[in-house]
Amino acid sequence: MSNASKIWTRVDYERDGKQHGWLQLPHSVTRSAYGNIALPITVIRNGKGPTTFLMAGNHGDEYEGQIALCKLARDLDPGQMTGRVIILPAANLPAAMAGVRVSPIDQVNLNRAFPGDPDSTPTYAIAHYIDTVLYPMADVHHDLHSGGSSLQYLPFASMRIGSQPELNRRALAALQAFGAPIGLVWAYSPDARLSSVAAINRGLVALGGEFGGGGSVSTSGVRMVERGLRNLLAHAGNIPASQAVGDFAGPTRLMEVSGRDYYVYAPERGLFEPAAELGDEVRRGQVSGYVHFVDNPGRVPQACHFERDGMVICKRHYGLVERGDCVMHLATEYAG
Ligand SMILES: [Zn+2]
Repeated sequence: MSNASKIWTRVDYERDGKQHGWLQLPHSVTRSAYGNIALPITVIRNGKGPTTFLMAGNHGDEYEGQIALCKLARDLDPGQMTGRVIILPAANLPAAMAGVRVSPIDQVNLNRAFPGDPDSTPTYAIAHYIDTVLYPMADVHHDLHSGGSSLQYLPFASMRIGSQPELNRRALAALQAFGAPIGLVWAYSPDARLSSVAAINRGLVALGGEFGGGGSVSTSGVRMVERGLRNLLAHAGNIPASQAVGDFAGPTRLMEVSGRDYYVYAPERGLFEPAAELGDEVRRGQVSGYVHFVDNPGRVPQACHFERDGMVICKRHYGLVERGDCVMHLATEYAG
C-alpha cells in the first residue's frame, strides 16, 4: 500500500491565470468500470505570494459557502490579485450532489475523516488529498459550514484554538478581519478528526463558520460569506487592502464555546418543544425545552435544562428527537 493519493488532476497549481478543473478520484462501479468522481476545483494565480485555500461542501447539505465559492471562482480576476487562491466548493461532491451531510457512497462524514487514508473509501481519500496536497500549499484556509439539515445557527465565522499561541493569534486576527457579526472561538474539541484540526496541524491560519442551517439557503448568510471572503483575501494579501468591504453589521462580537456543558441533549425519544430561541440569553438551570410523548398524552413531558449561563447560538431544526440528539448549544463572551 502506498501513501500517495490516487487523485489526479489536469490543473497546474503553479500556472498563472484562472483554471476551472477537476480532482479525479478513481471510483470503479458497475455503471462505470474505469470511472472517476470529479471534484470541481478552481485555481487562480498571479505570481508568487500567499496561498489561500477556500473550501465548502465538506457537508453536502450546507449551502451558503458552496454558493459563495462558486460566485468567487467566476468573479476573481487573476490580473487583480497576488499569489494564489484555491477554491474547492463541493469538497465532498457525492454528499453535495445528494444534499446530505455524509457521502451516500460510503456513509462517511468528511469532517470526521481527517487526516484521511488514500486507500480507504472515497471520503477518506478526499480528506487525505486535502491534508497531504492542498494544505501544504496553503497559508490561510477557510472551511465554510452551516448547521446542515438538523441544526439552525445564529451565523458566525469561527476559529479553533490550537497548541501554538502564535498561530492562534494570527487566526484570531483573520477572524476579526473577516468581519462577521459574531466571531466564535472553539476552545472545546469533541473530535480530532476535523478539517480545521488537520489544517492547524499543517501550520495554517484556519477559519471556519456556520452561516445558516436547516438545509436551506440563508440570503444574509450568503452575503456574509461573500463580504467576509473579500475581507479575508485582503487580510491574506491576495487582493489589495482597498478591496476589503468591512464589517457585515458592526464590529465582530467575539464569543467562545469551551466545554461540553455548553451543549444540551435530548434525554429521551419524543417531540421537542424548545423553550428558548436563537439569540436568547439564558441562565444555568433554566428550562431549554420539553420532550413530549404524543403516543402517550397522559405522560408528563420531560424538561431538559441548560447546564450553564450563555447565549443560544444553535438550535435543533427538526422537531423529533432521539435520546442523545443535541437540541441546543450556547456561546459565551470570549474570555481571551
Ligand atoms: Zn458542517
